[in-house]
Amino acid sequence: MDNQLIKGIHHVTATVNDAREDYDFYTQLLGQRLVKKTVNFDNNRVYHFYYGDEVGTPGTIMTTFPYKGQGVRQGAVGTGQVSITGFSAPTGSIPFWKQRLERAGVAVTERSKFGNPTLQFKDPSGLALEITGNEEDGREPWVTGEVSERNAIRGFYAVTLLVAGASSTFDFLMKEFGFAQVGAEGNTTRFAAHGGGPGQYVDVREDKDAERGINGIGTVHHVAWRVESDEALLAMRRRLADELGFQVTEVKDRKYFHSIYFRMPGGVLFEIATIPPGFAIDEPVENLGQVLRLPDWEEPNREQIEKGLPEIKEPDHV
Ligand code: ZN
Repeated sequence: MDNQLIKGIHHVTATVNDAREDYDFYTQLLGQRLVKKTVNFDNNRVYHFYYGDEVGTPGTIMTTFPYKGQGVRQGAVGTGQVSITGFSAPTGSIPFWKQRLERAGVAVTERSKFGNPTLQFKDPSGLALEITGNEEDGREPWVTGEVSERNAIRGFYAVTLLVAGASSTFDFLMKEFGFAQVGAEGNTTRFAAHGGGPGQYVDVREDKDAERGINGIGTVHHVAWRVESDEALLAMRRRLADELGFQVTEVKDRKYFHSIYFRMPGGVLFEIATIPPGFAIDEPVENLGQVLRLPDWEEPNREQIEKGLPEIKEPDHV
């Protein structure tokens, strides 16, 4: 089988706390576009927000479930999780971001990672984020009145997976995902999908003494990897489930992409998701994210669902 079917990150999904705080942080402070406002398909009292570039290009999509008031516990980062979600921005924007975040009351740590200046900070729910300054990113960013093109986030740079024992993860990423090992720093090893570049890196951090992660608010629920077609998705499913014996879900229709889910050898929940059809399937690109979109089976309950959800401010049109 072609072992280069995985092209890079599709999206990262996190469990977060308050909907308004989350919306303000990702759209206003980080300058991302809300490309879809919908509900959790399994719990219509909870929003599902998708943030990204203009159209929500796979590799730019951060998604959140704001679970405040739903009895979901605070999570804890540990092994078997994505421990850091990393965004990409031009090297020259790093002082801008440091100042912008600090002015908003966000504590920022500046360090070098694999030679790149990197800011580490947390979102309002305690989710660990970073912005990596680099000169490799040719993607067109979404811009706002406060975040201009020369500073804007381009999408993801890398995700960091925290695992107790790294060798099974290394084998899996190289053999089954076709990733190449491209660097190592301390106990972290960097892999590149499909030639590498921003949105196509994964850092595997090994820590044999770390506690197992606890899923909950302030943690990443899963990372999704992108494939170009349903055929590629099915080929990955056959390989993982039928040939390798992983427990893999059936193909799920997520409306904006089709997906399978499984736990990789280091315990992290992985999704594989198709690039098509994308977020413009149920509303025009210029209006993305403005109106609550519901799956067909929830439409009859729209009035009641809207009443039960917290209001968020209209997107920032610039
Ligand atoms: Zn997902």
